[in-house]
Amino acid sequence: MTYLCAAIFVHDVAQAKREIAAAAESGADMVELRMDEITDPATARIIAAECILPFIATCRPTWEGGRSQLDEEGRLGILEAAIATNARCVDVELETMRRSNRAAPFEHVIASVHDYQGRPARLHNLILELNNTDAEVNKIVWTARSIRDNAEVFDILKSRRRPTIALCMGEAGLISRVLAKKFGGFLTFAAPDGAGGTAPGQIGIAEMKRLYRWDAIGERTKVYGVVASPVMHSMSPAIHNAAFDATGFDGVYLPLLVEAGYESFKAFMETFVPYEGLDLSGLSVTIPHKENALRYLKEKGADIGQLAQTIGSVNTVIIDRRNGQTGLRGMNTDYAAILDSITARLGIVREQLAGKRVAVIGAGGTGRTAVAALAHYGADVTVYNRTKERAEELAREFDGHVGRVRAASLSELASEGTGEGPPYEVLLNATSVGMYPKVDESPVPAMRMGPQVVVFDSVYNPMRTKLLQMAEAAGARTIGGVEMFVRQAMAQFEAWTGLRAPAAVMRRVIEQRLRR
Ligand code: NAP
Repeated sequence: MTYLCAAIFVHDVAQAKREIAAAAESGADMVELRMDEITDPATARIIAAECILPFIATCRPTWEGGRSQLDEEGRLGILEAAIATNARCVDVELETMRRSNRAAPFEHVIASVHDYQGRPARLHNLILELNNTDAEVNKIVWTARSIRDNAEVFDILKSRRRPTIALCMGEAGLISRVLAKKFGGFLTFAAPDGAGGTAPGQIGIAEMKRLYRWDAIGERTKVYGVVASPVMHSMSPAIHNAAFDATGFDGVYLPLLVEAGYESFKAFMETFVPYEGLDLSGLSVTIPHKENALRYLKEKGADIGQLAQTIGSVNTVIIDRRNGQTGLRGMNTDYAAILDSITARLGIVREQLAGKRVAVIGAGGTGRTAVAALAHYGADVTVYNRTKERAEELAREFDGHVGRVRAASLSELASEGTGEGPPYEVLLNATSVGMYPKVDESPVPAMRMGPQVVVFDSVYNPMRTKLLQMAEAAGARTIGGVEMFVRQAMAQFEAWTGLRAPAAVMRRVIEQRLRR
């Protein structure tokens, strides 16, 4: 069993009791009582006696990143009081044990090493040294320099000789905290609800359980994730983990912080795709890695959907594992999401897009995907962009790919909209204009939009953008960015699992998050 351990900084008896109760209510299996600020054994004994969950007692000195200023004798006195009052274990730094020839000062000791700067230079020697103490549990924790440090954490857990806690701190280390259970770690730490936690990158118990499916994770759980930088704002973990929950699929979906640059992306793929026991089975890829994903998959000779090649970016990777072989496939689910959002709203099939007049605002990644998709089905597309040259480049590339594509500047769109009627049947915003926090902005200041126009805003935060509000006021039919987001996620889910995506659940999760 891997314990879910709530980490609590103890300030006084009343606060400790409150946080222990909160930890128990949120489903923690045990707590770590950080008694760094406690200076007398009598107080330690009272707090320990009040603890309603199994607990670990720790009194971390300043020289190991803690707050205790007591001398060694004083600190050990606090721990002795805790162990005498039913502590499940006490945490003693390896450095302290070195001073007593690696002998544990008490029964039930966790021998620990922490490095807040990065990976300890002598990592493997430290593991040997920990194994040579007579502690019951080894603990080694460091700040991840990059996501790849987690692979060493998994190595340590796989080759453990005794119960072991191995974790990476910081945002890049999040996956080691969640996957500790998959690799059989002794415990993972999480913060009680409403408390700040005791180490960088520590998440809350509720988040661990609800968002990251802690209770469902097992040795065979398949791992998925979104590769991005930054990544913690992503709503993809919420939507995909909810879909795994709803369908009973044995998977967990994580944020994967991979720094910008092709080399970082490649190093991530080379480390984790073949990593035995991780079962990495699928990836969402977003800014800044969509082009990197395409390049990497091409280098590997992977199967890449024709559409992803045409658009020049991959947002979905499927990792097939059969008979010891790993196969990679790449696709772009934004393409279908854009087309299907429009056709569903118009009540037509894709082929009926032929000849439809569509205005696409934006010539970045999303604009490009929209133009490629619409031109492929024969639409008559005009790309409006702030930087007109980029729109012209797009038009040159896709004009004649069945449909017609011409370029114009953004200012032309505003003036074209003020004549007899809008020169388009569908208007699609593929810029970031109107996105939170600049919610009062619209890509075009004013235009004529009537019931004959469908206005589609790819921005999903806020759900009702300024543009959509203007469109509704003019009686136009609208499509929000949530529609596109949910559809691209559904296509990913189906490609990874072979199951039908639970559309209603996925839509509800994202709408709930956006309403917060
Ligand atoms: P991108 O490649 O960086 O392109 C940004 C586009 O926005 C460019 O055309 C840029 O014009 C234009 N732009 C930016 N600021 C502007 C401003 N102040 N005024 C006028 N135009 C401006 O970004 P992307 O990947 O295409 O994403 C664009 C948006 O699509 C995102 O912000 C997001 O809201 C949305 N999106 C939604 C989904 C979904 O599932 N709903 C998925 C992906 C993206 P220039 O060329 O002149 O710089």
